[in-house]
Amino acid sequence: MAASARDPLWKLLWRGTRRRCPRCGEGRLFSGWYTERERCTCCELLLDPNNESFGFFFVSTAALTGVFFFLLYLVQPRSPEVAQLWLIPVALVAYVGSMPTRKGIAIALGYWLRGAVRV
Ligand SMILES: [Zn+2]
Repeated sequence: MAASARDPLWKLLWRGTRRRCPRCGEGRLFSGWYTERERCTCCELLLDPNNESFGFFFVSTAALTGVFFFLLYLVQPRSPEVAQLWLIPVALVAYVGSMPTRKGIAIALGYWLRGAVRV
């Protein structure tokens, strides 16, 4: 199922969320859990040619931190020690657990932007 950078953005993001190649939707972005491939195994797309996915990855990490600050504001724990008991493990799981998905979205966005620039 070949596709182009002119596919709708939502489709590219969905593929990235599923950790699949943004162009063909078939090839896996990672070998193993988080080892990024250089090229798609199906269509040979160079996945992250200039490491441009790092910017989105950085911003999404900052956004996750904002979510946790908002949660702290909503929950208002009795003390900082109580907050640390649940917040640190939950945050670590969220940061690490979402890494491949956030990286996949970043690669899809980079692919979309490269296509948008060429048009
Ligand atoms: Zn592909």
